[in-house]
Amino acid sequence: MTIATPTRPALALQGGTPQRRVPFPLRRTMGEAEKRAVMEVMDSDNLSTFFGSPGAQWLGGPKVRAFERKWADIYGFRHAISVNSWTTGLQTAVGAVGIGPGDEVIVSPYTMSASATAILFYGGIPVFADVDPTTFNLSAETIAPRITARTKAIMVVHIFGQAADMDPIMALARRHGLKVIEDAAQAPGVHYKGRPVGAIGDVGGFSLNYHKHIHTGEGGMLVTNDDRVAQRCQMIRNHAENLVEALQVEDLDNMIGSNYRLTELQAAIGIAQLDRLDDLVAHRQRLARHFGEQLAGLPGLTPAPEVPGAGHAYYVYPMTYDASVTGVPRARFIEAVNAELPKADHWDQVGLSGGYVRPLYLSPVYQRRVALGSQGFPWNQNPGIDYDYTKGICPAVERLHEHTLLLTPLIREPMTLSDVDDLAAAIRKVMSHLDDLRQPDAATANAA
Ligand SMILES: *Cc1c(COP(=O)(O)O)cnc(C)c1O
Repeated sequence: MTIATPTRPALALQGGTPQRRVPFPLRRTMGEAEKRAVMEVMDSDNLSTFFGSPGAQWLGGPKVRAFERKWADIYGFRHAISVNSWTTGLQTAVGAVGIGPGDEVIVSPYTMSASATAILFYGGIPVFADVDPTTFNLSAETIAPRITARTKAIMVVHIFGQAADMDPIMALARRHGLKVIEDAAQAPGVHYKGRPVGAIGDVGGFSLNYHKHIHTGEGGMLVTNDDRVAQRCQMIRNHAENLVEALQVEDLDNMIGSNYRLTELQAAIGIAQLDRLDDLVAHRQRLARHFGEQLAGLPGLTPAPEVPGAGHAYYVYPMTYDASVTGVPRARFIEAVNAELPKADHWDQVGLSGGYVRPLYLSPVYQRRVALGSQGFPWNQNPGIDYDYTKGICPAVERLHEHTLLLTPLIREPMTLSDVDDLAAAIRKVMSHLDDLRQPDAATANAA
């Protein structure tokens, strides 16, 4: 039996002193600028001036238009179109590029569920392609084998804030006449080879829900450089069926609309939030780089990669963990690291976690192949074609789901470099005690 020496303090999990006890700071997202903006709208009594019919108001009121113009101008998009969530924004994009029943759309299974369900809402069939294990994103290599005569589009997700390698994807898409939609919910303000992500493809955009870099409570922003796609998005957002005649629209495919309109209050908040975005992203990049430097060289742990030319907004900081190197199961490692950190009383303080989502194709909608109604729609649109959603179709994603470690709030503002030092120290401490974690009985006996 060995006794822990003073130079090697015991793990908190095994009775030692935690690396840090002071709680991590809580995020504050709303400041004076947002409050003033809201009060100005309240004083105007103009909470939304959208009308779902032809006339000056079908594109919304002054704050909605100003928010869209400001977003487009800052990042150099031709058009920005606000929506009441990014889930409805994705649906709008799918409708705008003309997806219909039976059309196949290639998508990553390692994303928020809405990237794929948006396809189903128009009767499209999600075909899942594997991801590149370094960037966690779809690549031209993983997409190519999934293309068939029925493929109409590719839904690229810039997951965790990491820009996907768009040039080869766009070249592949153009060669096959495919539309490209970018789900950049987690990557606002990110550039790929000097171009802002979101509208490198035909259309894309960003989420403005409370957890994203900047937010309007709920909301989203579509971006595109294509005038026709922009108008179709604007119409789907706001009762297209009432507008097509007055606007003399000839392509009537998918030209029924909904009400996905943002309010003036939200748009006013968004205008103020937009001033913060670049600084928030830059701050997260500093934290992430600092963190990555401190973790370099630890066996079994690979920090998030820095991909030349492809920016990262660090919505989430991903690492891969190899239990066959450390000899400690991932769940045990996570437990040991989190025991070194102050207890999380709030979502903003949650420590290390595992996984990200289960590969989407394993959820019931794909296993049952019924999305709308009870007759197998939309899969029944292509009789005789067997869409495979069994475990094993995307091996890289399945491995990542089991080997990824994620840091979410702790790599964001208002965390500082010194907070990140504590985080890295906690991980290094656990890494220096792997022996104790491999032999839980002996370690517990030592601590006692
Ligand atoms: C947040 C998110 C969405 C959905 O956005 P909402 O605004 O919450 O509807 C879609 N895709 C990804 C990748 C997201 O992170």
